[in-house]
Amino acid sequence: MPDRLAPTRVQSIATGTAFTANANRTISIVVPCHNEAQSLKSFLQATNAALQSIPDVSFELVFIDDGSTDATLPTLLAFAQADPRMRIIELSRNFGKEAALTAGIDFASGDAVIPMDADLQDPPALIPALIEKWREGHEVVLAQRVNRDNDSLLKRVTAHGFYRLHNSLSDHGIPENVGDFRLMDRKVVDELKRFPERGRFMKGLFAWVGFRTVTVEYERAPRIADVSKFGFWRLWNFALEGITGFSTLPLRVWTYAGFTVSLCAFVYGIFMLIRTLLYGNDVPGYASLLVSVMFLGGLQLMGLGVIGEYVGRVHQEAKGRPIYIVRQTYRGDDDRNRVA
Ligand code: UDP
Ligand code: MG
Repeated sequence: MPDRLAPTRVQSIATGTAFTANANRTISIVVPCHNEAQSLKSFLQATNAALQSIPDVSFELVFIDDGSTDATLPTLLAFAQADPRMRIIELSRNFGKEAALTAGIDFASGDAVIPMDADLQDPPALIPALIEKWREGHEVVLAQRVNRDNDSLLKRVTAHGFYRLHNSLSDHGIPENVGDFRLMDRKVVDELKRFPERGRFMKGLFAWVGFRTVTVEYERAPRIADVSKFGFWRLWNFALEGITGFSTLPLRVWTYAGFTVSLCAFVYGIFMLIRTLLYGNDVPGYASLLVSVMFLGGLQLMGLGVIGEYVGRVHQEAKGRPIYIVRQTYRGDDDRNRVA
């Protein structure tokens, strides 16, 4: 059998969309922006500097204005007047980073897509290394950060805890310390575009699709302007999205918890019965009654809460609303030119 399989594999590599020498390929850099007016200038400078050194590839810069309330859109349009590679997608309101990223990926037309944050926390200087790996034939090139020194201790501990919990619960683990910053071949992007779900935990979806993956390491810089838009509550909901989107274990575990508690209650009941028969009923079991009622009540509420998390998401999906709404799109060479 191996003899028969070998030629097919070679053929699939040759006809795949992975980089082939001398072909002029386009790479889309996708940047979701929410109130990033202050970061954009340095972002574009650093990105342009990094892209200049890359031969044989042309670039498309897709910016998504995710309902910014500052000067993000005018700033983008001003830059776009001098840069025909830029495309700007203005969403009708703030839809959140995951939705903005989805919009960018949908609009990107390149042979590979690199999602990046606008705050320079994903260093543009790493782009040549990502492309180099792509040219070697890898379909997904992950950028993994080696330090978390710029994050607070609390964020580091909770992030680590989240990855461990997520990966122990779900069938498809996500690599630790890997954000959205990565390179994905067109093949991978096309598969991602087939995902209809509204609860978009992009890191999980990225990992779920698979493909030939390699990792490149980098050091993550602190944010250049402003502060992170992800406070505790947003991160907590993000973590819930990640777990409920990729594991049904929290839902199923209640069967076993319920069974264990009933078993204990049953054994305890028998014990009480025998003790009463042997020694009579001396003190009415007020304390044990209260404890077990409260324990069971708490357990039931928790179970209900977990079911609620899932039912809420089923509800969300069932409504089938669009993931994002585009107000207008602009093309780099002419900011009055509507693209779609
Ligand atoms: N972002 C967005 N929509 C939002 C929140 C954030 O498009 O509702 C963008 C933001 O402009 C940035 C990226 O997502 O380019 C990451 O955001 P941030 O730096 O605040 O997050 P962190 O680095 O803390 O993960
Ligand atoms: Mg950031």
